Amino acid sequence: MTATRIDGKAYAAELRRNVADQVAALKRDHDIIPGLAVVLVGEDPASQIYVSSKGKQTVEAGMKSFEHRLPADASQADLLALVGRLNADSSVHGILVQLPLPDHINESEVINAISVRKDVDGFTVANSGRLATGQRAMVPCTPLGCLMLLRDQLGDLSGKEAVVIGRSNIVGKPMAALLTAENATVTVAHSRTKDLPDVVRRAEIVVAAVGRPKMVTGDWIRPGATVIDVGINRTDDGLVGDVDYDSVAGVAGAITPVPGGVGPMTIACLLANTLTACCRANGLPDPEGLTL
Ligand code: NDP
Repeated sequence: MTATRIDGKAYAAELRRNVADQVAALKRDHDIIPGLAVVLVGEDPASQIYVSSKGKQTVEAGMKSFEHRLPADASQADLLALVGRLNADSSVHGILVQLPLPDHINESEVINAISVRKDVDGFTVANSGRLATGQRAMVPCTPLGCLMLLRDQLGDLSGKEAVVIGRSNIVGKPMAALLTAENATVTVAHSRTKDLPDVVRRAEIVVAAVGRPKMVTGDWIRPGATVIDVGINRTDDGLVGDVDYDSVAGVAGAITPVPGGVGPMTIACLLANTLTACCRANGLPDPEGLTL
């Protein structure tokens, strides 16, 4: 069997077109332009690439992009003051503080200072709590993108056996909450899970968010399973996922590649969340096809 390659790049391009169309309609009909503020502290090379790419795609979607770059030794008070100004700025509908932050800054204090209505990454405790309790939330972009790909591939996820490998607050936990809300039967695996290959072998849906190059191999996979690879690992062989694509593609029913799978979906979902936040801030209905 050779698995279907899930083309996240194409799906994300479609999603960005949808966002751009609805942004244009918002401007035409209501004279409102969504704005996304991205805050970068320090000069982490990967973060700089992500921030530039977010800014570029925000502008391409017809939205306003506000970039705030602070030096690596900026104080927590400076950062909190900036977040406070952005919270109060009515031209800013979404705020994203690029992680990781330098060690001297308390990440969770900064993230939780972001207004829940502008928290387009969905990382505040308020949004995580809403997601966990089934209330309307801003859903973290990477798991949101994974869920869109899964729904597109499989349709109804009710009763499906899903295994999420990884329990981080930004990927694994919200992914598990989303799959639970879709009525899948969800197992969350992590570094203390015993017999991980056996656990994964029962899954019809596997989401790998571990950060270990090519850890999941074909012999772990139930024939026909759908495999979503969140991993982004920089190795001497270039960018690779957490899944060994070649061996898994021989057994799975469908699989996302790295690059070109989940990665492009993350930024597209960030744009979608910014438009959603803007509509909600203005008392308008949620945009079509961009929320769950
Ligand atoms: P974290 O490091 O925060 O979490 C990794 C998780 O994997 C932890 O829960 C950890 O378990 C678990 N884990 C580590 N080693 C093993 C192991 N040997 N067996 C089973 N579980 C293990 O990572 P993130 O969730 O932030 O990111 C995961 C991956 O996804 C990374 O490669 C990251 O680069 C990528 N990523 C990609 C994005 C995209 O846009 N495509 C966005 C965000 C992340 P424990 O909790 O026990 O330590």
